[in-house]
Amino acid sequence: MHTLLHELQAIVGRQHVLTEGDLSAWTQDWRKRTHGKALAVVRPACTNEVARIVKACASYRSAHPDSRVSLVPQGGNTGLVVGSTPDDSGQQIVLNLQRMNAIRTLDAANLTVTVEAGCILQAVQEHAQAAGFLFPLSLAAEGSCTIGGNLGCNAGGTQVVRFGNARDLCLGLEVVTPTGDIWHGLSGLRKDNTGYDLRNLYIGSEGTLGIITAATLKLYPLPATQLTAWAAVPSMEAAVTLLGLAHRHLGAGLTGFEVMGQFALSLVAKHFDQLRVPLYADWPFCVLLENSDHESESHARAQFESLLEAAMEAGCVTDAVVAESLTQAKTLWQVRERIPLAQAEEGLNIKHDISVPVSAIPAFVKATDAQLASAIPGVRLVNFGHLGDGNLHYNVQAPEDQDAAEFLRTQEPQVNRIVFDSVMAHGGSISAEHGVGSLKVEHLTHYKSAVALHTMRAIKQALDPQNLMNPGRVVRA
Ligand SMILES: Cc1cc2nc3c(=O)[nH]c(=O)nc-3n(C[C@H](O)[C@H](O)[C@H](O)COP(=O)(O)OP(=O)(O)OC[C@H]3O[C@@H](n4cnc5c(N)ncnc54)[C@H](O)[C@@H]3O)c2cc1C
Repeated sequence: MHTLLHELQAIVGRQHVLTEGDLSAWTQDWRKRTHGKALAVVRPACTNEVARIVKACASYRSAHPDSRVSLVPQGGNTGLVVGSTPDDSGQQIVLNLQRMNAIRTLDAANLTVTVEAGCILQAVQEHAQAAGFLFPLSLAAEGSCTIGGNLGCNAGGTQVVRFGNARDLCLGLEVVTPTGDIWHGLSGLRKDNTGYDLRNLYIGSEGTLGIITAATLKLYPLPATQLTAWAAVPSMEAAVTLLGLAHRHLGAGLTGFEVMGQFALSLVAKHFDQLRVPLYADWPFCVLLENSDHESESHARAQFESLLEAAMEAGCVTDAVVAESLTQAKTLWQVRERIPLAQAEEGLNIKHDISVPVSAIPAFVKATDAQLASAIPGVRLVNFGHLGDGNLHYNVQAPEDQDAAEFLRTQEPQVNRIVFDSVMAHGGSISAEHGVGSLKVEHLTHYKSAVALHTMRAIKQALDPQNLMNPGRVVRA
């Protein structure tokens, strides 16, 4: 091991191979549910260094067949499925790419920006905006997550209803393969049918097939205005009807459609009392809508008014407010974004990030709520998410009088089985946007088709026969 560590020091410099002191920022997952032990945290500065690190590890493994030395690619370490931290073997190297944070080029005519993998998402958004463009990927962790991590787990976020997820926003990649070779795939092409789509293979592979070192991303024109509205709805069916109306009235202007359950909002009101949570007290759900308009604010306002009028006539909205200012709009978004934090304040909980077809959401919620309530009387459901994409964060909190840690220990398997069985019965996926990591590997074995799993294992075996890249994540080799 010492020879390998010396080799890594020679590649990146001694100060960028961390082995001592408090390494928890790199070895503990964001939710603090697991604490790993790293052989080292290595922080390369460029693609060539990444390639040399991978080659060094691959040669070490060849020379020491019994060794389990492997690499865990890491960006901002904000992932929610324990995919970017080492296991407790002490043999995994965390390869943190945050020093690779250059914006390489912005091609205004091609509407693309090429950035290194360690760029913080918010920095890319700001760079695009300064040049008069929109980079629409947006999520609550945008101040700390990186483009490499976003693409590694194909992040979604709040704008998917209009722009798609990270995969849809990426035109090209630069990747270091498990052999330490560099694939120069930074194309800004919108059309390229020359065989297998490697870019789409690497996106969402969660660091198990290679290390993304740079990406060419799509840009869009900045809208003239973005308006936000908040509506109370009498049921989940009504929320889905409102979504249909919003598509018809706003067209491509509909850039956000988030649903929030009453209990989820009550937790924000309880734990963030400086935030005013509107209209939630009397209705089971509220919806946050965003209208991005390329004409003018008055045009966007008129569109919203006509949508809300139609929705009230149809009985799917009972009350609504349209933000009067940017500050008010930001506050409404803050309420939505504080839900996970409010839930964490309330205590440990069981998180699910599921998707079903939008049309099946009401039936899924009704059936799953009923099954959980009957299996665990008093259970509290924190239900919110990106309804426009059929994606719910369907989280389960202990009954009020029960110890949360004890609840997790005794009830998690039963809760997961009820939720995931219901997801499958409604034609859905057990992971909509957070990925698989190590948290859902076992569940995937149960819920993914045998043919899909076999194909995934064959790909992993073909590209990474040494199992050097993030082993134990996504599929077991
Ligand atoms: C408050 C909060 C809100 C969130 N909201 C959303 C949301 O709305 N939508 C959503 O989809 N996700 C959300 N997430 C989770 C989300 O996946 C991440 O925030 C983000 O996409 C991960 O980026 P990261 O740089 O932190 O990656 P990390 O956590 O470091 O890594 C994530 C995965 O990608 C791999 N990886 C990292 N870098 C690379 C690379 N360069 N090459 C190959 N693989 C790599 C890692 O090995 C790991 O498997 C949220 C997380 C938090 C904490």
